[in-house]
Amino acid sequence: MALTITCPVCGKRNGYEFKYGGEEKGPRPEEKDLNPQAWCEYVHMNKCVAGVQEEWWFHKDGCGSWFTILRDTTTNLEQEKKEAKK
Ligand SMILES: [Zn+2]
Repeated sequence: MALTITCPVCGKRNGYEFKYGGEEKGPRPEEKDLNPQAWCEYVHMNKCVAGVQEEWWFHKDGCGSWFTILRDTTTNLEQEKKEAKK
């Protein structure tokens, strides 16, 4: 099944319009007390989850937005995101 991605600006579109930006890893580490090993792990090490993971996508052939989605890596299907509690 072809990958479809829901852009927050343009709506549901064909996955070929997007560029994968990697796993969502949380905020960038603080530079204070950051050593090369910790930086290398943040940049290069991935969880490679077999299941649902949050990941970054760029709408390269559309509006130019960066955003995150939840995707099941075993089925390539986007999962509905639950809104964060306020
Ligand atoms: Zn878009």
